Amino acid sequence: MQNSALFDYGFIYQVCGGFQFDLNSVLKKTNQGYIERHHCDHNCTTDCVNYQCPAAFSSNRDIDQQTTLSLDEIEKSLQNAYEGMVLANKQFLKNIFSQYCHDYYIPKHVAKDLIETLSTSKLELNMFGGNPELHPQFLEIIKIAHRIGWKVTTTTTGKKFMYDEQFTKAFLKHPPDLLAISADDYEDLNELKQLLDLNLEELKQYWQKINPLYGQRKKAFESIYSAKLALSNKKFPKMLFNIVVHPGNIDVIYEMIKLLSVKFPSVLINPYPAQSSFSFSSLAWKIEHLPKIEKFVDFMIDKQFSRIKNNFPAVARLLYWLALKSIFETKLRDTDKLAMLSGYDIWKCYKQAGAGRYLQASLADKRSKKPFRVGAHPGCFWNHETVTDNKHQLWNMTPEEISLYLLDHKTKLPAKSENPCPGCIMPRLMFDGISIELGLDHRLLPAYLKLRNKYFNF
Ligand code: SF4
Repeated sequence: MQNSALFDYGFIYQVCGGFQFDLNSVLKKTNQGYIERHHCDHNCTTDCVNYQCPAAFSSNRDIDQQTTLSLDEIEKSLQNAYEGMVLANKQFLKNIFSQYCHDYYIPKHVAKDLIETLSTSKLELNMFGGNPELHPQFLEIIKIAHRIGWKVTTTTTGKKFMYDEQFTKAFLKHPPDLLAISADDYEDLNELKQLLDLNLEELKQYWQKINPLYGQRKKAFESIYSAKLALSNKKFPKMLFNIVVHPGNIDVIYEMIKLLSVKFPSVLINPYPAQSSFSFSSLAWKIEHLPKIEKFVDFMIDKQFSRIKNNFPAVARLLYWLALKSIFETKLRDTDKLAMLSGYDIWKCYKQAGAGRYLQASLADKRSKKPFRVGAHPGCFWNHETVTDNKHQLWNMTPEEISLYLLDHKTKLPAKSENPCPGCIMPRLMFDGISIELGLDHRLLPAYLKLRNKYFNF
């Protein structure tokens, strides 16, 4: 195994850590006091299709939009997070890494490459939070993040590209490094084909007629509009389609991916299975889906290799797909397999130090009689009851405190939770090989390590 293969298949990346920052936490006044909530201009709920986003506007009514994070709070948070994450990697290498190599059978030549990568200070920022382009200083934040040294991704819906030409012009003057858009909200294959055939003006006209309560429908049009706009304008940054594979599209997912990658050959494809764990909802999958999911997992493992050989535009994530494949290679009841494929117990960011190296900041479950400053709590966007630090906010934390949170507090906070998060399979948060392995359920490890050996030779 050469260093390049570790990069080619996503055991390690050019960045040695990442930070998902919810920019749109706001305050809400209730009869029982002030609380923190999300602000988004989309309404992605199960009323429309397959998932319930915590930021959906129908779940966050009567918020005070003026209370969103200030530019100063964001800049300080970005600076502190950057220094804290570099320090966390140093501490991880010093105190945890050799035990990790021992427990997970990492050979010396691989360990050397991992140390080299973790010793760099290249980090990625994912601007997030419902729709981050809603933040009034969104464009300024990209510039600040670049100045600090972050490689910047923005995960947006692309809505503003549809109606605000000035915004698009300013965005293209100083774009992020990657623009991630969700591309899974098409009703069926026919609708996707129709959308791909429409021109920009037609897409806009149809989009305007959609009921605003149906956020996913809006996003379906916004994603194709953004990708088409990018095709016609070379100044657009590299794009990525996040595609949730769910019971409604698993039968046509191959055709969907083909259509999207033929129409938009330079757009990266990032599919991952639907999950329901972090919101404690019923399983996302049923027994009849098991063979279909395994077939798709095999397809994605195969695509990891054609990524290199045939330039297939999938994100490098072989370890992620091997972790999913290990569910099928482990003796488990079908209901346990389905639960794991829905995010339950397969991987936990807090299982042990190093699993949750991907930092997140979002709102906290906090209530106060007086107004207070919201957001930037180290924690998790999807589940606020497990690893969220209700007392601290990144802008007033030291790098040492952030490092301590990532490597120590994150593993201890769940013990104080009445209902800790049952796990997830978010590819971005599971991140590199090290954090995937450290967070993986012990039942899956034998099969996973066998698979790793098959593909990585160690
Ligand atoms: S396992 Fe961790 S990162 Fe994943 S949803 Fe739960 S709290 Fe969030």
